[in-house]
Amino acid sequence: MDRFDFDLFTIGAGSGGVAASRRAGTYGARVAICEDSRVGGTCVMRGCVPKKLLVYGTHLRDEIEDAKGFGWTVEGAKHDWGALVAAKNRELDRLGGIYLRLLRDAKVTLLEGRGRVVAPHTVEVGGKRYTARHILIATGGRPALPEVPGVEHAITSNEALDLPALPRRVVIVGGGYIGVEFAGIFTRAGARVTMLIRGDTVLRGFDDDVRAALTSELRKRGVEIQADVELQDIERRGETLSVMTKMGGLYEADAVLCATGRWPNTRGLGLEELGVALDARGAIAVDEYSRTAVEGVYAVGDCTDRLALTPVAIVEGRALVETLFRDNPTPVDHQNVPSAVFSQPPVAAVGLTERAARQRFGAVDVYVTSFRAMKHTLSGRDERTMMKLVVDRDSQRVVGCHMVGADAPEIMQGLAIAVKCGATKAQFDATVGIHPTAAEEFVLMREKRPDPTEREPAA
Ligand code: NDP
Repeated sequence: MDRFDFDLFTIGAGSGGVAASRRAGTYGARVAICEDSRVGGTCVMRGCVPKKLLVYGTHLRDEIEDAKGFGWTVEGAKHDWGALVAAKNRELDRLGGIYLRLLRDAKVTLLEGRGRVVAPHTVEVGGKRYTARHILIATGGRPALPEVPGVEHAITSNEALDLPALPRRVVIVGGGYIGVEFAGIFTRAGARVTMLIRGDTVLRGFDDDVRAALTSELRKRGVEIQADVELQDIERRGETLSVMTKMGGLYEADAVLCATGRWPNTRGLGLEELGVALDARGAIAVDEYSRTAVEGVYAVGDCTDRLALTPVAIVEGRALVETLFRDNPTPVDHQNVPSAVFSQPPVAAVGLTERAARQRFGAVDVYVTSFRAMKHTLSGRDERTMMKLVVDRDSQRVVGCHMVGADAPEIMQGLAIAVKCGATKAQFDATVGIHPTAAEEFVLMREKRPDPTEREPAA
């Protein structure tokens, strides 16, 4: 008989943990997974899925407004926030059921409760100890709150996805992924939104042209963006929250959403006691095979703070199972991972920003276009689509694609294949466009933007 109760014990039933456990189960391994909340994790229960449903629901305002230019009369259109949240919750219940079934079908034992590694190869859940040859930590992350007085009055994305009523005025602190996505959801649902950001544009880490374009589009849609401000404190006065900035600004709101990053969820898991190395943010240090410093302990997903994206956690989880149960060591390639921000309009990108490409390659060619999409010639909407290609001048490989505009995430997935395959600008140019689309502009850009690093030739 095997000396372990299980071949794999996974702590955390989110995207990474479930993917790894199911795959291991279908390979015949004896697998247990524990979870102290709902199966599905951040993505399914408190992140990507509910967020996207709220984006769909609120974006319909644009469709209704745009319809007029195409001859429609839409009278009396009203939105019921509570109905949208209830419909979203029904869908989450359905998905929760599917996740449970998928685990059952893969013969994975589900244990309800918080797991803690108490000894080598040993996990404790609800006072009971289980042994396992391999332990996988897939505990995800949690919202990080700024340390300012009154922060307890603020909500995080967890609560924002589940508000029973739409607040009339919302202050959003932070201009990252979550901040800009909720700015879209709340404004399109009818709230007045003020964003407080520390820099001059939203989405730090994205290409500068993307940041400028989205900041401008959000402002056009009525989001009041206060740039270069820092939070001082939050006070509750009756039903109203007052947000003070260090610059002396005062903003009143019915809800304050802090979208100020996320921390890896690694506290109280017994990891440090066991010798697993954590970084200053609490992220578990792993190698390209998701191995920690302790033999038999692995980690995938947001708790490792590599790329905090669901599909990356899934790839990491499945690669680990290939390595452990298929005798097929599979490292994970974190290069050229496409990502999207479901702001309104959305953003998507793959590869390097212009700034990063200049640092890596020196000389780059940049192609940028900004135009009014055909739909808006009739809708009259004042919205511009921005697309950008960054090309390594030496090899002529396209090393970055960026877009702000309708359908950007849908378009970027295909481009990501080209970038991953090392396609050159000439190959983009040789690809025939699909007309009439916005996407075709990615194969039609011919004019290089003047290179700011090259001096004007002497007259
Ligand atoms: P981000 O790291 O994207 O952005 C955090 C924002 O909060 C930044 O604007 C940052 O400002 C600001 N900030 C941080 N600390 C403070 C502070 N103390 N006071 C004021 N502002 C502060 O985090 P998010 O919370 O938006 O999202 C977390 C992660 O979740 C993302 O990085 C992403 O990996 C993932 N995610 C992915 C989504 C997707 O794929 N569509 C959607 C949602 C989340 P500054 O720029 O100045 O540092």
